[in-house]
Amino acid sequence: MRVWINGTPEARDLMADSAKKNGQERQLDQLTEECAELIVAVNHFRRGRITAEQMQDEMADVLLMLMACSEYGGSLEAATEAKLLKVKAWVESDEEDHGE
Ligand SMILES: [Mg+2]
Repeated sequence: MRVWINGTPEARDLMADSAKKNGQERQLDQLTEECAELIVAVNHFRRGRITAEQMQDEMADVLLMLMACSEYGGSLEAATEAKLLKVKAWVESDEEDHGE
């Protein structure tokens, strides 16, 4: 199952440039900050304190950070594809609890 986690070539190139300009430590710091903001946003959404659009704004921040941090090695696409196969097997199974 092929995924294209880095979006369009233009988006990939832009986030690669951002990753290079920020440097790995700063970019990883920003990733953790954005993940924390997303956790807060999800909890606020559950309590009705923010809209779905506001939560999605934080999701977009995390997605961009993932795109940028994928520049530092490994293969985010390969890892994602492997996870998708597990999700596919779960969706097609009778199991109720995903376990991840
Ligand atoms: Mg944010």
